[in-house]
Amino acid sequence: MWRGATTAMTERSHGPSKMRLCSTVAIWVTFIHCVAAIPWTQEKLHHRAVTLTQDEILAALTSTDLEQMWQRDLRPLLVTRYPGSVGSRAVQEHIKTTLGSLGAGWEVTEDAFVSQTPYGQLPFTNIVANLNSSANRRLVLACHYDSKYYPPQWHGREFQGATDSAVPCAMMLELARALDEELKAQKATSPDLTLQLLFFDGEEALFQWTATDSLYGSRHLAQKMETTPHPAGATDTNQLHTMDLFVLLDLIGGPDPHFYNQFPSTTYWLSRLQSIEKRLHSMNELVDHPHNVQYFWPNRPVGHIQDDHIPFLNRGVPILHLIPSPFPSVWHTFDDNEQNLDRSAIQNLNKIMQVFVLEYLNARPATAIPSNPQNAP
Ligand SMILES: [Zn+2]
Repeated sequence: MWRGATTAMTERSHGPSKMRLCSTVAIWVTFIHCVAAIPWTQEKLHHRAVTLTQDEILAALTSTDLEQMWQRDLRPLLVTRYPGSVGSRAVQEHIKTTLGSLGAGWEVTEDAFVSQTPYGQLPFTNIVANLNSSANRRLVLACHYDSKYYPPQWHGREFQGATDSAVPCAMMLELARALDEELKAQKATSPDLTLQLLFFDGEEALFQWTATDSLYGSRHLAQKMETTPHPAGATDTNQLHTMDLFVLLDLIGGPDPHFYNQFPSTTYWLSRLQSIEKRLHSMNELVDHPHNVQYFWPNRPVGHIQDDHIPFLNRGVPILHLIPSPFPSVWHTFDDNEQNLDRSAIQNLNKIMQVFVLEYLNARPATAIPSNPQNAP
């Protein structure tokens, strides 16, 4: 991503107070009238997440395992993986194999294309994973898996891009693995609301950030989705209409991340993340987390940042951009490596994101703990 020229951009979506008013009115309308009267493209405006009980949260988090994520998901990503490289192809295989091995039944497809770059024509491949591609509504998690290109003859060192963005991609794989049972059950019980994972290629500028030398994968996929009808054969709705909320994770893995508010229209969902942070803190589920709020700050606005959400934002998709401010101190240096990652922050954010996804999808995990201990054998 790029932090220059951030404030000049204007949010395409509606003004904050108007949106809040609309949302409030819409919620009441939902309660008063029949939900079925609302077109599916508008249901995202009325969506309510469930709030899991403490027992359900504990049950949901029993499977998440930072060490397993580190070995299985993160280490294979910490290679040079600029577009078209050997490492890029290995990482693509890793992502596809990992998701393909899960029980929830992910449908994994590629969006492969060739684009002109400052180094000539290069191949790019986005990876799109759908839990249920026939569902009309999708919570989207996205990251970029490419690493920034540093010509080896100039630097002689390998750029790992640990926070940029190996860790966010590993977090998404870990989420899919840890919540496999819950997602499988959610798919069976809620056929119209699902989870989609996007792994973008070519986020980084290959030479220098411009409108054409950056965001190769996200620009291509947003354009493709806009021209792909959903449901199949539809004439007035496309795949972008299926996106309830597009959550982009980037530059995660450094110590003490702060996520501020770029988009008033999605403040509610950033507030949900803060609420989950507080709840997990009160349950002593977060490590090295002395205050009840450290990460999510919905009441603090921050300027826009150029990143993979932009082609979707420009087409009207609601965005939650989870990128810390300031960026990690190692950003775009050779110190953005495994040694400088903060395991506690990653583990905490894994837990917060996993609860967020379950609550958004209205997926209550089965609890092993009886709700009334007196009835226990
Ligand atoms: Zn970068």
